[in-house]
Amino acid sequence: MKILVLGGTTEGRALAAACAAVPGLEVISSLAGRTSSPLLPAGAVRVGGFGGVDGLVGYLREHRIDAIVDATHPFAATMTAHAVAAAARAGVPLLVLRRPGWTEQPGDEWRRVPDLAAAAALVPGLGERVFLTTGRQSIAAFAEVDACWFLARSVEPPAGQLPQRLEVLLERGPFTVAGELALLAEHRIDVLVSKDSGGTTAKLDAARELGLPVVLVDRPPAPPATETAPTVAAAIAWLRESLHGSPAADGLGTNGDGCPRRAGRQQEQDWGVRGALGRNEACVSAAGGQQEQGLGCPRPRAR
Ligand code: NAP
Repeated sequence: MKILVLGGTTEGRALAAACAAVPGLEVISSLAGRTSSPLLPAGAVRVGGFGGVDGLVGYLREHRIDAIVDATHPFAATMTAHAVAAAARAGVPLLVLRRPGWTEQPGDEWRRVPDLAAAAALVPGLGERVFLTTGRQSIAAFAEVDACWFLARSVEPPAGQLPQRLEVLLERGPFTVAGELALLAEHRIDVLVSKDSGGTTAKLDAARELGLPVVLVDRPPAPPATETAPTVAAAIAWLRESLHGSPAADGLGTNGDGCPRRAGRQQEQDWGVRGALGRNEACVSAAGGQQEQGLGCPRPRAR
């Protein structure tokens, strides 16, 4: 049985790690190729666009894919739309694995906006020193905001039109609350801008602690009439159902709580969790805050 995981996220890597060592299950992860040194998932990896919906349909047929899990980032709306269209045309079951967005807590000063242009229009009224955590492709949206100084954090250097007053921090997460607090203080940040990506909450926790306003860009709408799962564990349960009857489905066991079964030492190895990720990312809680630690399910025993 062959699974295509559309990746580029922590969840995509966790799912690939969980599937890669299950006997009879072949997992191919697909990355867009945006970063020069991506974190590689376990199992086979292909890199680069498919060439639109037609290209993806061709790929699914040529490689005889049995199921697709779209584990791309919640803001990768084009890839998700293509996956939905291609899966329907090729008759391949599709699951969209989409981590939950964040929920405002007491003490938060959030301003939700529909898109990056609205965020750029709002920030000058909220502060002068802005921490941009929306990714390098989003920095151009702030190019005309001359009233503010920006600190932008991204994995790769930004390109194209950029704000006049910009400092770039090349870093890859996960980040800690203590680290974020120190960064915000060091740069005297007075407003944070983020996409509602979900997952790790360190920057939001730090902003709350300092009483800073946060401009949160809403997600693009979810694809209509598509099966979705909020966690890696739920995606594994879906795969198990989809592959029902194949020997590989038995390898995709769960504890009954949606978490992968870990009957013993061999099972831990089969899931490839420890070796591939160094922590229990294969089973992630629906709670955004817990995703940072990947502690939604019991950690495998230390050996
Ligand atoms: P996008 O705008 O939704 O997709 C644009 C095109 O890039 C797609 O039509 C497809 O090209 C190609 N593509 C995207 N994801 C791909 C994948 N996993 N495998 C193969 N081709 C892919 O995508 P994006 O927002 O630029 O995101 C690109 C990648 O970065 C995704 O894998 C996503 O998970 C990751 N990422 C995105 C964000 C974000 O904020 N958008 C944040 C973190 C990680 P073809 O039409 O030629 O197939």
